[in-house]
Amino acid sequence: MRPLIIDPTARADIARVIRHAEANPVSLIEITRAMSNPDLAVGNKPEHVCTVPIGYRCVFSIEQQPKGMCRHLSVSVVTLRVPSVEAMELLMGEFRFSGGLKNSEAWREDLGGGHTAINVIQLVDQTPSFTCPRCGRTSYHPKDIEHRYCGNCHAFTSDEAA
Ligand SMILES: [Zn+2]
Repeated sequence: MRPLIIDPTARADIARVIRHAEANPVSLIEITRAMSNPDLAVGNKPEHVCTVPIGYRCVFSIEQQPKGMCRHLSVSVVTLRVPSVEAMELLMGEFRFSGGLKNSEAWREDLGGGHTAINVIQLVDQTPSFTCPRCGRTSYHPKDIEHRYCGNCHAFTSDEAA
């Protein structure tokens, strides 16, 4: 597997893209438009794109699908034909997908020149979750949700603290 380095810098960059995606969900109409005009695709908007070392290009958006609001992550690697399953699972966790590939819809996208992007999509509201207001980490553990506990901060969080 090509090294995938999720360091604090990469995490901050991922958080930037997640924040933008959550604040700017893509409508069904915009998706349809982008299909006929690739210039409008989110992959061409820097706010939706980050590169996780080494060379993993991630395009992330929250988009309206007929079945509901979905997370959509597309990953390609500059020097590889296709990202590995292991890398996909790791990146999906960082982009707050729950349950990995087996819990998502995935498909391959031919980028030309022998490169393939892996796309994954998952309903946003599929799983209840608790996102720590202090560090932004999301947990899907029922006990964490019930007690608003963050395993990253090792702390319980009240609404007042947020
Ligand atoms: Zn936290």
